[in-house]
Amino acid sequence: MSKLLKLPLYTQIIIGLVLAVIVGVLLGAGKPVMPKENLQNLALPAVLVLRALSMLATPLIFLSIVNTLLTADLPGGAAKKLGFLLTSNTLVAIVIGLFVANTVQPGNWNSLGKPSPEKVAEIAAKSKGFDPFQLLDSVVPESIIKPFADKTSVIALVLLGLAMGIALRMLKQKQIAESKTDYKPIEQIITVLFTTVIQMLHWVIILVPIAVFGIVARTIAIQGFEPFKSLLVFVVAVILALVLQGCYYLLRIQFGSWVTPKHLLTRGADPLVAAFSTASSTATMPITYETLIEKVGLRKSSASLGALVGSNFNNDGTALYEAMSALFIAQSLHLNLNLSQQFLVMLTSIFASVGAAGIPEAGLVTMTLVFNSVGLPTEYIAILLTVDWFLDRVRTAINVMGDMTVSCLVDGKTAKTAED
Ligand code: ASP
Repeated sequence: MSKLLKLPLYTQIIIGLVLAVIVGVLLGAGKPVMPKENLQNLALPAVLVLRALSMLATPLIFLSIVNTLLTADLPGGAAKKLGFLLTSNTLVAIVIGLFVANTVQPGNWNSLGKPSPEKVAEIAAKSKGFDPFQLLDSVVPESIIKPFADKTSVIALVLLGLAMGIALRMLKQKQIAESKTDYKPIEQIITVLFTTVIQMLHWVIILVPIAVFGIVARTIAIQGFEPFKSLLVFVVAVILALVLQGCYYLLRIQFGSWVTPKHLLTRGADPLVAAFSTASSTATMPITYETLIEKVGLRKSSASLGALVGSNFNNDGTALYEAMSALFIAQSLHLNLNLSQQFLVMLTSIFASVGAAGIPEAGLVTMTLVFNSVGLPTEYIAILLTVDWFLDRVRTAINVMGDMTVSCLVDGKTAKTAED
């Protein structure tokens, strides 16, 4: 058993998948050999894992934002430019994701299992559209705890995190100027709490292979292999969208930086490979920073802005994935989200990606908040556990490529000189 636990997570998930196929076939492969109600119990680990992820989502997002704002080295005047680059790149990512999801319609290739008409009507009633007044109304919560308790208010949560982070940062700068150190304990508490939540998240992630086993075995036993067709189309669609986002980065670099796309791809491949293999943009951060300075040849200040500061807020691959997942599940449930509902998906995905930490599966955690915000049922995210381990690697590579792009754009159209 301990040998099994030492295997990399993706190997454990693949083993879980293979066992699930065997068990699913033995249990009927679409013609269940026992009452469906009994087979439904196989989904319990996935339900619990999702509930744990969604429980950890709020502290993770909040602490990740406050921690970055409090500890990052952000030179004066850079915040605006960085803010603009990050927002525009994320917007493009989500638009690409929604475009591909609407064109390929991965969820319409097959049903994930039809919920009853009553259930569909109930979900449809909850799937909110974009209402600017209601949105504004919910931005300022009635109490400071509400965004932590109410899972539908991801925007309020992110704004609260930003406000607290900026306030603490200003206080810290003021105290440093006055040679005071009162801010230090709170900075340490925030960092320790953030690390603790990440540790708890690791424990939940250990259970993912069991969850995948249960949900896949149940699905195959009850519905056979049909539902997986659409999942395959979804994987292809997400990869296609992520590749398009990569092309967009190269185009921006071509027109906005002295670095050429070829130069970036040949000299800057290390962090992309590291991101794919670790599925963590934070773990890749030192490699990204080093590569940008040593191999690509950027100024230290630009490298640190994109790779160190940007990487905490800049998760375009994650934003794109969350928006596509919401559309995929909605399509699979035959709920075609209209334009205003998709706009709300876009908005919440932007905020959720800002708060997604650069660690494996963070996108899955924040996705629960996107689903809750637009009224989609989170239990269907369980089926995505099957493919998330792989898509996580691809989207992490795009997250890192986004950070590198921001650094190249900040570095401008002239390469550094000997005086720089
Ligand atoms: N693993 C991703 C990253 O580290 C975050 C995510 O799960 O989307 O950037």
